[in-house]
Amino acid sequence: MYVAMVASECAPAAKVGGLADVVHGLARELQLRGQVVEVFLPMYDCMRYDRIWSLEQCWADLRVPYFDGGVRCEVLRGEVDHIPCFFIRPHSRENFFNRDAYYGQQDDPARFAFFSRAVLEFMYKSGRKPDILHCHDWQTGLVPVILYEIYQSLSMGHSRVCYTLHNVHHQGVTGPHILRQCGLGQHLMAPEKLRDNAHVGAVNLMKGGIVYSNFVTTVSPRYAEEIRQTGLGHGLQATLNASAGKFGGVLNGIDHGTWNPEVDNHIPFGYSISDFAGKFRNKAALRHRLLLQDKFKPIVAVVSRLDQQKGVQLISHAIFYALANRAQFVLLGAAPGKAVNDHFWALKQRLDGNPDCHLEIGYDEELSHLIYAGADMLVIPSVFEPCGLTQLIAMRYGTVPVARATGGLADTVVDANYGHKPCEERTGFTFDEFSEAGLESALGRAIGLWYGYPRYFHQLVLNGMRQNYSWNQSGGHYLNIYNHIRA
Ligand code: ADP
Repeated sequence: MYVAMVASECAPAAKVGGLADVVHGLARELQLRGQVVEVFLPMYDCMRYDRIWSLEQCWADLRVPYFDGGVRCEVLRGEVDHIPCFFIRPHSRENFFNRDAYYGQQDDPARFAFFSRAVLEFMYKSGRKPDILHCHDWQTGLVPVILYEIYQSLSMGHSRVCYTLHNVHHQGVTGPHILRQCGLGQHLMAPEKLRDNAHVGAVNLMKGGIVYSNFVTTVSPRYAEEIRQTGLGHGLQATLNASAGKFGGVLNGIDHGTWNPEVDNHIPFGYSISDFAGKFRNKAALRHRLLLQDKFKPIVAVVSRLDQQKGVQLISHAIFYALANRAQFVLLGAAPGKAVNDHFWALKQRLDGNPDCHLEIGYDEELSHLIYAGADMLVIPSVFEPCGLTQLIAMRYGTVPVARATGGLADTVVDANYGHKPCEERTGFTFDEFSEAGLESALGRAIGLWYGYPRYFHQLVLNGMRQNYSWNQSGGHYLNIYNHIRA
């Protein structure tokens, strides 16, 4: 089977968050299962070019329709961790992908709508006929629409689309000019098509993806329920319910090639369940790197985008709660918004010189590995969480998650005291209510167990390391979906 992944991120070359990990991990898994996979991405100026091998031009002059004219694009081919990737580079006045940022631009819908059209135009011109187009999030929501409206009658009649919702909070709601930009008709403004459910004059790109795809997934079973039944659907509940027959939750995996404490070359000491001593050495290495004092204390960590979704006020509260309760605290986080960024910089200055605390504001792939390896607990107090990967990585690295029970966190973290599963399947601490008291109830129990019952704490560590959240299982689910929609 030939699977074309169309996405705005792919780790490690173009990564903002979990979307990148998923595109990379699923593509690798499908390859290992013998499928032909190609990934299609924009060519951003801010990518990690050092993570792309053999990058070279493969198509010099791709003319992509744009309003009443066209934009000349180049297409480059390179390999990202053995995955063939094609990068679209438009030469337009708008300079779509040379903005020194992946997202956050005023014209994001126009940028990614252009990308969607360009990918299909490239497939058409280069004679590609994927069995499956797997599209991800609002950025590529127009791909199935454009495929259906334009390319299916040209040469891609047998291609089927699987569309994955990684975060329904961002839907790509924009003006109807976007249709004309992509060569689409205004008839798509109908309420059962792309018209936004709340704003009558607006186009919703994610809704288009849902309506026009052959199958729609989201990244955990719990989130699948939440976005159909509750306000977490942000207005898409009715659309998802109307598509219920072709919609389901498939839990994300993590790539065991990237996230494996036994062979991870970003950490100084390898370790495993049977050879655990390296974990303690990594804790010492983490302290050394971040100038924390070497005291008998647990390290509580956060690795996160610092976005409201991630529960920034509870992250701030966790810092002071941990420090007041005999723990050390480490944070690695990048804030896309100025207000949150300023807030954490102010906290950093306030805590400067505290030998039990280090706040690292920014994005640092290598340091994230050392934190997963060196910390004792990872706090994830999300307001909502479609799947979440950090709790899965933490468990694999023997770091106990302390998480709010929402979305994929609820599906994957089993509470040590109240979990409805046998003791050997309990892996962390959870809380329901999004409040300081809720967080304290879970983090307090975690720190208490670390000091009071270290053997029980260690049992939780081992339980987490034994969980298998690799792509193996989820890869199989996706293959079943692909076969189902091809049949
Ligand atoms: P989201 O996609 O909402 O950001 P996920 O938990 O699904 O959240 O995925 C987050 C991914 O991004 C993980 O691989 C995590 O290690 C990584 N990550 C998040 N923040 C940072 C950071 N500041 N530096 C390095 N890696 C980060």
